[in-house]
Amino acid sequence: MKLHEYQSKQIFAQYGVPVPKGRVASTPAEARQIAQELGGRVVIKSQVLVGGRGKAGGIKLAKDAEEAEKLAGDILTMTIKGLPVRKVLVDPAAEIKTEIYLGITNDRAARRPVLMGSAAGGVDIEEVAATTPEKIIKVHIDPLMGLQDYQILDMALGIELPKELWGEFNTVCQGLWRAYKESDATLAEINPLAILGDGHLAALDGKMILDENALYRHPELAEKRDLDVEAESEIEANKYGLTYIKLEGEIGCMVNGAGLAMATMDIIKHFGGEPANFLDIGGGATAEKVSAAIRIILKDPNVKAVLFNIFGGITRGDVVAEGILTALDEVKPSVPLVVRLAGTNAAEGRAMLAGANMITAETLAEAAQKAVAAAKGELK
Ligand code: GDP
Ligand code: MN
Repeated sequence: MKLHEYQSKQIFAQYGVPVPKGRVASTPAEARQIAQELGGRVVIKSQVLVGGRGKAGGIKLAKDAEEAEKLAGDILTMTIKGLPVRKVLVDPAAEIKTEIYLGITNDRAARRPVLMGSAAGGVDIEEVAATTPEKIIKVHIDPLMGLQDYQILDMALGIELPKELWGEFNTVCQGLWRAYKESDATLAEINPLAILGDGHLAALDGKMILDENALYRHPELAEKRDLDVEAESEIEANKYGLTYIKLEGEIGCMVNGAGLAMATMDIIKHFGGEPANFLDIGGGATAEKVSAAIRIILKDPNVKAVLFNIFGGITRGDVVAEGILTALDEVKPSVPLVVRLAGTNAAEGRAMLAGANMITAETLAEAAQKAVAAAKGELK
């Protein structure tokens, strides 16, 4: 789960990282008000969950409150890389002398977190990483020992940070590390960490990605989820405890178990089709869950056929069949449905579905082939 810049900076601030004292606005009038309170030049920053806002025109400097209102109005009507801007952050404008990159993420190959820093921070850091990777200094962090002060010194030397800033830099790095670790983040990034005109450091941008599997430990962070940017269907699925990811293909998939769902998608591709979604109804699915899953799949206008692949263990075939029948009653689908039921109570389930005008299959390969043919209109 990605956090907005303003949310990330709030968290960084809790860990002692210096951030500008700005606030978020949803209307131009609010932006004007905040600019007035900040008294003077401000920067208006679109809050969307993509990088490269500066280059996309989503970050503008305003010389006074009036201009802040006007620019906020412009930015609040923008769409950046497909995402509508609903909020802007109004920060006091900073005088930037140097832009440093600082970030922590998991290095899977090294099996530990890594602190990365570069003196060549700012909007071109991707370019730096691609063309001159030696300009990015890496320090691996022992997850049990934590980030050590001597490692931060190594980083400060590596990025040739002026000596008088080493103390502040230590506070920033330790703060970033604790924010990362205690939030169960997979990324915590400051770009730019600026050396300001007054000689101090400030985090002018912030980005965090949280591990969704750990969100249950952080109810206060889970609340920060921005529902506006997630597909409506994925939110609906979340409500029912279904794991649903919308994809681009034409064959809707309803499967129990993540591994089986992936195998089902692979085999659909193998037979020349494209899955319209990933959907795991989980173990021990209830009829209610099954029927919610079908409704969600069928809402996708790209879906030309649906493949149900249920391997009953804890999940019982008759319960799944009941859910399918309930859903069919409600949504009256106009696309062909292919079902493969195996395992616990599969025979009972198949018998229940016998009258329901569905295409049945014995094996997964057969089911996938039939779904691909049905999506092409070759099988009814
Ligand atoms: P991003 O493009 O999405 O990474 O957004 P950033 O928040 O990093 O802003 C992009 C660039 O805008 C920064 O690298 C700075 O050069 C510039 N910028 C951001 N805030 C300020 C500010 O307060 N003053 C000045 N002069 N430039 C800023
Ligand atoms: Mn940035």
